[in-house]
Amino acid sequence: MIVSKFGGSSVASSEQFQKVRDIIKSNPERKVVVTSASGKRYKGDNKVTDMLYLIHAHLQYSVSSKDLFTSVQNRFIKIQEELSLKTNIAVDLEELELELTKRCSIDYLVSRGEYLTGILLADYLGYKFVDAKDIIRFNYDGSIDFEKTEMLVKDAMEQHGNIVVPGFYGAYPDGTVHVMKRGGSDITGSILARVLNAEVYENWTDVSGILMADPRIIKNPKQIEKITYSELRELSYMGANVLHEDAIYPVKDLNIPILILNTNEPEFKGTMICESILHDEAKGIITGIAGKKDFTVITLYRHNASNEVGLLRKALEVFEKYKINVEHVPSGIDNFSIVVSSKNIERVLYDVVSELKQVIQSDSVKVTSNLSLLAIVGRNMAKHVGVSGQLFKTLGEHEINIRMIAQGSDEINIIVGVENEDFEKAITVLYDTFA
Ligand code: ASP
Repeated sequence: MIVSKFGGSSVASSEQFQKVRDIIKSNPERKVVVTSASGKRYKGDNKVTDMLYLIHAHLQYSVSSKDLFTSVQNRFIKIQEELSLKTNIAVDLEELELELTKRCSIDYLVSRGEYLTGILLADYLGYKFVDAKDIIRFNYDGSIDFEKTEMLVKDAMEQHGNIVVPGFYGAYPDGTVHVMKRGGSDITGSILARVLNAEVYENWTDVSGILMADPRIIKNPKQIEKITYSELRELSYMGANVLHEDAIYPVKDLNIPILILNTNEPEFKGTMICESILHDEAKGIITGIAGKKDFTVITLYRHNASNEVGLLRKALEVFEKYKINVEHVPSGIDNFSIVVSSKNIERVLYDVVSELKQVIQSDSVKVTSNLSLLAIVGRNMAKHVGVSGQLFKTLGEHEINIRMIAQGSDEINIIVGVENEDFEKAITVLYDTFA
């Protein structure tokens, strides 16, 4: 059995609905369909979820949201009419309009995008609509109650066989709707794949898989055929944005592969994400390159810093106090540096630096900003001698100064820090060398 999740652009219009139906009908194993809320139909269009968040903001400030609501209404009615669906979606929309006057919760309101899209899609596919609030169960701390969810999902499957489930939300034990983080429909799909022990979790989007590098920097980057969960984690953390990162955990320990596919080009193979790749037919040494700009490095100098027990802890405690996530801690003999995101430290930089001076009892603290971090990621790097040599040589030949180096102990990534202004150039020359 296959769980197939469709993103917002895949269900943005009646034309997209038709593509979804063709995909579902072409394989009877696609029994569980998860949908996002209807997304953008064209550049500059609005996502239904964003409009619903905006309606909520209007309500909060008692500003009329009539026009916004009408746009939402029209989008669903248009799909219903164009596909001649029996479902009278106008009734559900009227109900929602009434709820708005009762100051319904934000979670309930924004979940309606998936709910209404799901009702229309179920009708169109001839599948049973199963409300996520009846089968996806949260604990009160916001974590998923997998046991309860599994029971409810299996029951629904036994009863109906083929189901459409709206993504992005579920309910607390008392039945109140709770939404996940933005982009959470990916997580719903993953939860369903897990509790049903699906053969594969298909994630249908508007790109033909995961690319080796950011297409805004590299023209037509190659597509990744297979990638491990851990490689994807590294790439996502460093800025590659494909799948909600929390969507990996539910399927990871059961080793259910995730397939990233394109609703607009269903014949393309896409990218497979799995735990391990045994017969590694990957041609290159690296799987992908990603990176992020705007980090700040705070370097602390103290004679014999590396021999003093507890010094690093004291420094890190300052960051903890200000709730600033530490990305890397490269160190020397008489100094160590702490790399953090510039955005996170901006407001408290002055306070942090003066506290650091106190705890390490040294006035020598240097702050440099405008650092970019970029990572080359690949499971095959561990087996190859000379990858970092090649990396440094390439950057050196192009006169890109390396300001920091880090490598994870599992050797699936090498991270280098370069000046912000060298970022795009560094990605380009590394792509040309390794991809
Ligand atoms: N509709 C929600 C959002 O825009 C969830 C999703 O699409 O996955 O964030």
